[in-house]
Amino acid sequence: EAAINRIAAGEVVERPASAVKELVENALDARASRIRIEIADGGRTLIRVTDDGHGIAAEDLPLALSRHATSKIDGTDLLQIHSFGFRGEALPSLGAVGRLTITTRATGSDGAMSLHVSGGRIDAPRPAALRAGTVVELRDLFHATPARLKFLKSERSESMAVTDAVRRLAMAEPGVAFDLRDVSDGEDKVLFRADPAASLADRLATILGRAFAENCMTLDAEREGHRLTGHAGLPTYSRGNAVHQYLFVNGRPVRDRMLTGALRGAYADVLAKDRHAVAALFITCPPTLVDCNVHPAKTEVRFRDAGLVRGLIVSGLKHALAEAGH
Ligand code: ADP
Ligand code: MG
Repeated sequence: EAAINRIAAGEVVERPASAVKELVENALDARASRIRIEIADGGRTLIRVTDDGHGIAAEDLPLALSRHATSKIDGTDLLQIHSFGFRGEALPSLGAVGRLTITTRATGSDGAMSLHVSGGRIDAPRPAALRAGTVVELRDLFHATPARLKFLKSERSESMAVTDAVRRLAMAEPGVAFDLRDVSDGEDKVLFRADPAASLADRLATILGRAFAENCMTLDAEREGHRLTGHAGLPTYSRGNAVHQYLFVNGRPVRDRMLTGALRGAYADVLAKDRHAVAALFITCPPTLVDCNVHPAKTEVRFRDAGLVRGLIVSGLKHALAEAGH
């Protein structure tokens, strides 16, 4: 079991940024309104995620660390189990590759509990002090898998990857407050902050800057149950690289070649070859029409009808560009 967890873990957790993504997504799933993330040494020695979500009931706490034991699939979802292929893997995986401590207090319960896991070994839960929500602390990521540790990049580039992951999640949830800090060597440096925003447009203005907000088009297109929303920059507001292209499927950040290809295709006639659009595109569709768990890191997606989604993006963007006079 411990060995299986370590193998699964290597798939789910490639680097500190992937651990941060899993933990922040859990906080969002728990309906947190404020999420604080602290990292040290690029996340290698410490990742701590504190949320004010609904917490985990004491009796469910050990279960949260068993593989495939997720609270997020009920019986009615069993037919769709495929689309949840890697559900319930994150915490057990993190507990297999690092020293994990979860402290949580379920809404309405009269005390908090804490559970520690290391090398896949789960200690007995203990009473703890916490007013509400959940704190997940992950120390010494990959200490049990030196090979993986060796492949981590510099502290600076791991910390940049963490910041990028948090920025993407912050775009996905404009109403939630995010606060990311580097606490290496007793310091406390803000890496990223976003106060609760009233709209996606406001959140994007915070993250991508006012200039983007003033030079973008608002998207809204629909095709056979798939909807495209978000904001895309005018051709006059382009970049020399594609780093500011953010894609979301059903509310979660993804990286997907087909989607970025569609974005590039839509701008092909209005941008020079070496220029790239700035955009935050959101695709929503019924969960049965997309598999978001092709890869355990959950950043690639497979649509049932990729051609349709490609067409939606290209035509939605071209329509907006035409309306803007391009
Ligand atoms: P999944 O998110 O796919 O269900 P995880 O391994 O990420 O699997 O988490 C296991 C379970 O632990 C979740 O289903 C949830 O019940 C609980 N959990 C994890 N993190 C939190 C959190 N921050 N707040 C409340 N519950 C949490
Ligand atoms: Mg999860």
